[in-house]
Amino acid sequence: MKKTLLFLLAGVVALAAVALFLFRLPAVQDTVFQRVVNAALGESHPELFTDDALRALVCGSSAPLADRNRAKACIAVFAGGRFYVVDVGPESWENLSAWRIPGDEIGGVLLTHFHSDHIGDLGELNMQTWALGRPERLRVYGPPGVEKVVAGFSLAYELDSAYRTAHHGAELLSPEAGRMRAVPIVLHGDPSPARDRRGLVFDDGGLKVTAIEVSHSPVEPAYGYRFDYRGRSLVISGDTLKHSPLAVASSGADVLFHEAQANHMVEVMGRAAQERGQARLQKILSDITLYHTSPVEAAELANQAKVKLLVLYHFTPPILNRVAESIFVRGLAEVRPGGVEVARDGLLVELPVASEDVRVGRIRGG
Ligand SMILES: [Zn+2]
Ligand SMILES: [Zn+2]
Repeated sequence: MKKTLLFLLAGVVALAAVALFLFRLPAVQDTVFQRVVNAALGESHPELFTDDALRALVCGSSAPLADRNRAKACIAVFAGGRFYVVDVGPESWENLSAWRIPGDEIGGVLLTHFHSDHIGDLGELNMQTWALGRPERLRVYGPPGVEKVVAGFSLAYELDSAYRTAHHGAELLSPEAGRMRAVPIVLHGDPSPARDRRGLVFDDGGLKVTAIEVSHSPVEPAYGYRFDYRGRSLVISGDTLKHSPLAVASSGADVLFHEAQANHMVEVMGRAAQERGQARLQKILSDITLYHTSPVEAAELANQAKVKLLVLYHFTPPILNRVAESIFVRGLAEVRPGGVEVARDGLLVELPVASEDVRVGRIRGG
């Protein structure tokens, strides 16, 4: 027995040594690199663009506190041969690019509000999708004020855009296509404190997108978005307190992507800050509990809306390991025993048309 084990071990070591030797040979290295290049230049994710499903891909699931494994807020929605990006938090373009989502197929960006963890990559996404061949201006939808955000990013990237057109030629990189077009979405209804207003973003006959007012004061207005496509639907909350009108606007939807802040963990952090005399951090941690939703509250809202699946995202504090995840969702299972996913970047939800199925998986290569 001992002899067999030793023999096997010697075999593994010998194989590893041979592999190490082979990978030092330029011809082997070149073959491997050629394969990587061929794979990178192949068709990228045609399966996401077929018109037989509504799909959503989590391209960023974290909130302002640092999490090396998660980009900040971003959810890409695929419908009718195009994709739309709801929020473009820092590092989210890196995800989309690394997964080889074809940027020239973008139909628009929808901003829920203008906190930095939701807009940080707007300039990068515009620049990169233009370089990838986007044929027209990038539409950026959002609450009134989106014009200011778009104008600011445009100014910051103005010199770079000019360099690129000068370098590659206007035929390849037309200055017109490289620009952004801000599209402010106006809400209809009574601007009462109840914040129960909606506004049509667009309805192209296949895909209908609706803005839903949420509660993130003093950020006003702040939006969530509902996507309806061929009988399937999903809602993305943006940042909000638990907000009953969002449940009403989500009713009948298949999936709700809802932000989540574990206030019981934030309180522990607040007390630790207090004990260390870090008054500034303590104040910020105390303030943020006033405009976000706890995981249990998000579950209650999902139940109220009767959605099939709740996907939690935009986590404060960051969920850095399994233990933290258990603490984060404590009490949730008692409210909603099933139909909950804790998002990771790369989570893919597919809603096939003419079906009740909700398929949860991961982006290929992610
Ligand atoms: Zn946020
Ligand atoms: Zn926010």
